[in-house]
Amino acid sequence: MAAIQLDRVVKRFGDFTAVDGVSVQIEPGEFFSLLGPSGCGKTTLLRMVAGFETPTEGRILFGGTDVTRQPPQRRLTAMVFQNYALFPTMTVGQNVGYGLEVQKVPKAQRTARVAKALARVDLAGLEKKPVTQLSGGQQQRVALARAIAIEPDVLLFDEPLSNLDVALREQTRRELTQLQQQLGITSVYVTHDQQEALALSDRIAVMRAGQIQQVGPPEALYRAPDTAFVAQFLGGSNLIADAALAEQLAGEAPPADRPVLAVRPEHLTLDDTSTVRAEVRARQFLGMFAELELALGGLSLRAWVDPALAIPDTIGLTATAHRWVRDA
Ligand code: ATP
Repeated sequence: MAAIQLDRVVKRFGDFTAVDGVSVQIEPGEFFSLLGPSGCGKTTLLRMVAGFETPTEGRILFGGTDVTRQPPQRRLTAMVFQNYALFPTMTVGQNVGYGLEVQKVPKAQRTARVAKALARVDLAGLEKKPVTQLSGGQQQRVALARAIAIEPDVLLFDEPLSNLDVALREQTRRELTQLQQQLGITSVYVTHDQQEALALSDRIAVMRAGQIQQVGPPEALYRAPDTAFVAQFLGGSNLIADAALAEQLAGEAPPADRPVLAVRPEHLTLDDTSTVRAEVRARQFLGMFAELELALGGLSLRAWVDPALAIPDTIGLTATAHRWVRDA
């Protein structure tokens, strides 16, 4: 049975629809990400799973039980927030033990569970330290320890890495993956960062304007996007809707229901023999490759090429891989 089931969930704020009929099942132990641009409704959806918001329509089930109208404290979820949401006047141990105290867990057990949770996030022995004396990365680990200390059925993450600098974000991302593998707690993770979603998730739901556009494992979504939006959002595909140009580049006619050609920048390559001629507008050296900005039939396209290549003003182009997608 699914750990979490969302059944045609809608959330309206006044006459604005933030979540527009979302149905999806999340399996036990799965790390499931909601990925999408700012304002697409992912945080609202997460808050409904937590019980901080009530759906306008639809149902939310945990392990087959309808929890749509149940308050947050009855749902056995724990949330990790972007801004950590720690109590600044408390020690590390008091922060991690807070949820256990609310649950009236006896002191001796509490102490043991706090120590265990801190060890899990590599902060063993720091119980007595004021939480404000820790770095941002350590504070986020305290927040994570607080969440796992209550041994929730479901962990909810609301962009937990976005306040960390790049190096720390990558390190914390790796630690989070390990922790998830050890604990196996069903997790729902909200992010607008495609790399984070690709690196962490068993499956990703790509959201746009309150709806899920596509759900799948990271590699499947990356390799086989269904829509122009998913192709563009995950991996920054070039989108070519001009039928004649698309056919010329792909070397084949589009299927009737997928009229748009999606080509990733790494798959647009130079080919002197090609009849598709593009004008080079700009070239940027980016280390592993050079990014070309190309003008082609009124479109602006991006191509990644060998940075050692000398690039003339006009080049022939081939797509070494492509995908036909729906226009959405
Ligand atoms: P972000 O990454 O920016 O947080 P998001 O995808 O998580 O984006 P939400 O926070 O879920 O998006 O918001 C979706 C839409 O719903 C936004 O347009 C937002 O302004 C609106 N919204 C969210 N909460 C409320 C509220 N309490 N009242 C009115 N509108 C709201």
